[in-house]
Amino acid sequence: MALHNRIDKRILKEKMQHSSEERITISFYKYHQLAEPKAFRDELYTLLDQLGVMGRIYVAHEGINAQISAPKANLDIFREKLYSIDFLNGVRLNIAVDDNGKSFFKLKILVRKKIVADGLDDTSFDVTQTGQHVNAADFNKLAENPNTIIIDMRNHYESEVGHFKGAVLPDVDTFREELQIAEDLLKDNKDKNLLMYCTGGIRCEKASAWMRHKGFNNVFQLNGGIIEYTRQVKNEGLENKFIGKNFVFDERLGERISEDIVSVCHQCGKACDTHTNCKNDGCHLLFIQCEECAGHFNGCCSDECKEIIAMPAEAQKELRKGINKGRQVFRKGRSEKIAFRKVNHQSSTIL
Ligand SMILES: [Zn+2]
Ligand SMILES: [Zn+2]
Repeated sequence: MALHNRIDKRILKEKMQHSSEERITISFYKYHQLAEPKAFRDELYTLLDQLGVMGRIYVAHEGINAQISAPKANLDIFREKLYSIDFLNGVRLNIAVDDNGKSFFKLKILVRKKIVADGLDDTSFDVTQTGQHVNAADFNKLAENPNTIIIDMRNHYESEVGHFKGAVLPDVDTFREELQIAEDLLKDNKDKNLLMYCTGGIRCEKASAWMRHKGFNNVFQLNGGIIEYTRQVKNEGLENKFIGKNFVFDERLGERISEDIVSVCHQCGKACDTHTNCKNDGCHLLFIQCEECAGHFNGCCSDECKEIIAMPAEAQKELRKGINKGRQVFRKGRSEKIAFRKVNHQSSTIL
């Protein structure tokens, strides 16, 4: 059996969009020493493929980080099989908040050096000395304390569409940068309560240990991130302090948490929080686009890209030769082609 899916991406995507199968989007992670990540990867692929699971999973010597979707009909058996793996027994499954089940269209399991690209040398500090994990109720209490600084540990394009009220939102492209800037921004506040959060909690696991290592004395982290917070807020009838959308790294690109729209269309400037990728395959820029602009630009980020997608496929292919697409995608919303690209909103109001 092939342990990879080799069918064309477009075909798989199309199939997923038209499928009526009910699917649930789930994420989970676990830091755990794995002696043989490659062997574990192959076993896991076989197991999940049989259950019709799709998604993106990173496996490394330090553990596993998974974003997946599972057929609703197989949910119980999926949980049972997953929990039969010793180190994953009882792992928290973050269930997506605002889910159409169309989050992934194939299964990809990659062996990496790390499960989160944090750029940290893990031997230089004690990664087990994490901050204190807090639930939604405690997060709210801490957030109201004037001695608390809330910091968003995600990237600029994530916090742009949604964040906690009053949070510091570092204007960074990567988690690596985030750690440096967080340390720098907060260096005069080492005795305050540092309350950090991310999407599902995984980034805060290392970040909190890193900040403690850097001399921050009262570090707290939102357990299970924005996804678990939202679940608890709903279940327990708590006040929701998160405004806007939770950006997610799958086909949905975001989950609506509150009705507030905190960002603008990058092309016309009107209130909008719908992320999209430019339809020109040679560009693929991630940016925010309203429906009207999507119509006007045919889903592209600029007139230039709109002209390109009107060309015959062969000519487009010719144009793409030699272009490093990756570079463009990761400029996420910072392209000069975009009129309303985000202004630096590094929060200086709080500090
Ligand atoms: Zn617009
Ligand atoms: Zn474009």
